[in-house]
Amino acid sequence: MNNKIYLSESDMPKEWYNILADMPTPLAPPLHPVTMQPMKPEELGALFPMALLEQEMTSQRWIKIPEEVLDIYALWRPSPLYRAYRLEEALKTPAKIYYKYEGGSPAGSHKPNTAIPQAYYNKKEGINRLATETGAGQWGSSLSFAGNIFGIEVIVYMVKVSYEQKPYRRIMMETWGGKVIPSPSNLTAAGRAVLAQDPNSNGSLGIAISEAVEDAIQRKDTHYALGSVLNHVLLHQTIIGLEAQKQMKLAGAYPDVVIGCVGGGSNFGGIAMPFAQDKINGKNVRLLAVEPAACPTITKGVYAYDYGDTAKMAPVVQMHTLGHDFMPPGIHAGGLRYHGMSPIISRLVKDNLIDAVAYKQNPVFEAALTFSRTEGIIPAPEAAHAVKGAIDEALKAKEEGKEKTILFCLSGHGHFDLASYDKYLNGQLDDYEYPEAAIKESLTKLPKV
Ligand SMILES: *Cc1c(COP(=O)(O)O)cnc(C)c1O
Repeated sequence: MNNKIYLSESDMPKEWYNILADMPTPLAPPLHPVTMQPMKPEELGALFPMALLEQEMTSQRWIKIPEEVLDIYALWRPSPLYRAYRLEEALKTPAKIYYKYEGGSPAGSHKPNTAIPQAYYNKKEGINRLATETGAGQWGSSLSFAGNIFGIEVIVYMVKVSYEQKPYRRIMMETWGGKVIPSPSNLTAAGRAVLAQDPNSNGSLGIAISEAVEDAIQRKDTHYALGSVLNHVLLHQTIIGLEAQKQMKLAGAYPDVVIGCVGGGSNFGGIAMPFAQDKINGKNVRLLAVEPAACPTITKGVYAYDYGDTAKMAPVVQMHTLGHDFMPPGIHAGGLRYHGMSPIISRLVKDNLIDAVAYKQNPVFEAALTFSRTEGIIPAPEAAHAVKGAIDEALKAKEEGKEKTILFCLSGHGHFDLASYDKYLNGQLDDYEYPEAAIKESLTKLPKV
């Protein structure tokens, strides 16, 4: 009876898995936001290094992880796989619950898995400055950590509501040398345009992305980095699922269901894509994406071409979207607020390889408390969506009297999100559900392609 299944550092995967090699339906090409013609790699060259653009488009199945990246990964990887015995006992479920814990990274989440290779490839192509956006601060801190390792200056446009509510993440970024700017700011035309309309704007990820992209386009020494959504980000995150496959094998188990929370889709893609390959090859495994009812991109959005950002500067991609001017409410504590979804995850949903479910935030925090009080780790509010998904699957197994094996990704810890826990514990969280009418309104502004 092992609570934890470890891999040795020498058993860490040496290649990432690229699902583009195996998808039943290929992805539609990203379009230029002005001409609506397929983007040419050189047009994206102002934003990303060639190595990442190649990874974005290649259909090569396995991509070698550079030695320099493996060396940094080894600071916290391989990450442990846990068997949640005490949670199973509390739920009185016949299900076996496993979780892959990504909160042991320096930034406390899965995001350094992609921040490290992104900083590495940029540095290798002579870039010394990276501009990015961050919502709650996990991506900004991960990129600040990575930039610091590779000697790159990192500028982070941080959604203003988070900047004000989560000072500790800002301090974390600054500790690693990152420069943090509340967004919307008056440093960019995109930010100034939003402020002119609403000086008290809370900001949104879509606006912060516009600011970071504008910053990067205007300077030769600067590239842009995105912490989720893109194909190369999911690629880097597959190390989670590849390790989990080895660890499940050591445990003598194979999951009936693989669960992850989805914001832009990177931790879910990371744990689920290696299992999606199994599924495409005939294995019977269910892949379940969990999202908040306040930002129900897959379950209530449409599958269409949409802009990646509010100011329409980022490429237009086919994905599940709530509309690029979607504005999540500041009261929502659960993270996961991006209007779009990874094109890979969206396509696999369309092809019935991935299921999705949405939960309101009180039940999500209730699940997080059950988890904290049995397994000990306090989940990030985002990760708590996956916990809620896993608990519901375990309770369903109990009802059906089925032995079921559940694997989920615990994408990060919640030590910087305790203000949200405080609100939950004091009954101050609203079970907000984004109104259909607002979604419909946003969807009238999709680009015509
Ligand atoms: C950023 C983040 C997420 C959401 O992003 P994805 O790209 O969907 O994984 C989930 N969990 C944690 C802990 C995060 O920091």
